[in-house]
Amino acid sequence: MNNGIKIQFLGGVEEVGRLAMVLETGDIKLLFEYGMSPGKPPLYPLPPPPVDLVLLTHAHLDHSGMIPWLFSRNDQKILTTQLTGEISNLLHKDSIKIAKSEGYATPYSTSDIKESNHSISPVAPSQNRRIGDNYEVNFHSAGHIPGSLMFELIGDKKILFTGDFNINDTRIVNGTKPVECDILILEGTYAGRDHPKKREEIEKDLLIKIDEVVKRGGVAVLPAFAVSRSQELLLVLKNSGYNVWFDGMGKKVSKIFLKHRKYLRAPEELKKAMNKVNLVHSDQGRKLALKGEVIITSSGMMDGGPVLNYMNKLKEDRKSAVLLTGYQVPNSNARLLVDKGRLDFYGVTEKIECEVEYFDFSAHAGHSELIEFAKKCNPEKIVLMHSDNREALADPLKDVAEIFTPNTGEQINL
Ligand SMILES: [Zn+2]
Ligand SMILES: [Zn+2]
Repeated sequence: MNNGIKIQFLGGVEEVGRLAMVLETGDIKLLFEYGMSPGKPPLYPLPPPPVDLVLLTHAHLDHSGMIPWLFSRNDQKILTTQLTGEISNLLHKDSIKIAKSEGYATPYSTSDIKESNHSISPVAPSQNRRIGDNYEVNFHSAGHIPGSLMFELIGDKKILFTGDFNINDTRIVNGTKPVECDILILEGTYAGRDHPKKREEIEKDLLIKIDEVVKRGGVAVLPAFAVSRSQELLLVLKNSGYNVWFDGMGKKVSKIFLKHRKYLRAPEELKKAMNKVNLVHSDQGRKLALKGEVIITSSGMMDGGPVLNYMNKLKEDRKSAVLLTGYQVPNSNARLLVDKGRLDFYGVTEKIECEVEYFDFSAHAGHSELIEFAKKCNPEKIVLMHSDNREALADPLKDVAEIFTPNTGEQINL
């Protein structure tokens, strides 16, 4: 038997987006993630060769977005958590809707989505599965969003594929811990950037700012990712006493989260928070929300979703504020707002008079945390992926292990 380990990234290795990696060792070939980069236009990874199995760490589209496309070719078994399966399903349906509304070709059909959903073989943290005769994979919680996993593949060597991970506890999910391995395949979303403050301090800063906005008679708009960040903000605001409104796909996501309580740090708290908040279901609801104090709504990048309806009404209101809690990817509407004080309303950019502030609520390990995590895994080799700044990690880690920074399409032997 051939004991070598070959990997090839099909995308997302030198950027935070469209992640996909093929790993071949012995008699098995595995596909880790098959994502897309949502955007104008959406970007996809290279097509994969036939594989024995697909492993999916979590639902975010840059990891899961193109999984249904695999089913337009042939059947495939997917190992992931039941929760990731359900959230991905929701995001896949939504991405078809968005592609259609923006006039882009849809890469797969609703029946492909259905089929991919039926092909999930659900797994959970602390469990393991045999793969072929000689391999086993252990599942670890990644602490990134509820249901997220890291994969530990055990054969002649131990290989850890981190996906996106966080070592810090947040209100929604507990952080993860390093796993000893020989080969570490490490994400680097925050390479070169540290989280300047602890979560509790950031939460406090956000509440102080909201207080200021409400006191001067404005509305605090919190554009937030539907998956995990919205729910985290609900928990932060639960006992604040503000009149809070919740709009967008996050409502559905909350319901799915509450069906899978074991993946939540405090399911009862989330349930209570959902009962307290005002849910927006209609245009009438949106009018009422604008008379409230706080609005949590998708999309987090402000590229679509109800947030643009609210901003269209509030754009000239200097008393109101847009409080961003997610990183703004280049070319996103949220980035345009931060850099230029403008927003693109479906093709027309307009000046926004509201106050704009960013709070670093990240679901990723920061730069120093990535280094600390890598050291504690004690690997011989580290493959750096999912980062637009791998040099920032390669340098401090080169004394720890042999470093690999492959490019998209390049096959490397480990
Ligand atoms: Zn993610
Ligand atoms: Zn990611």
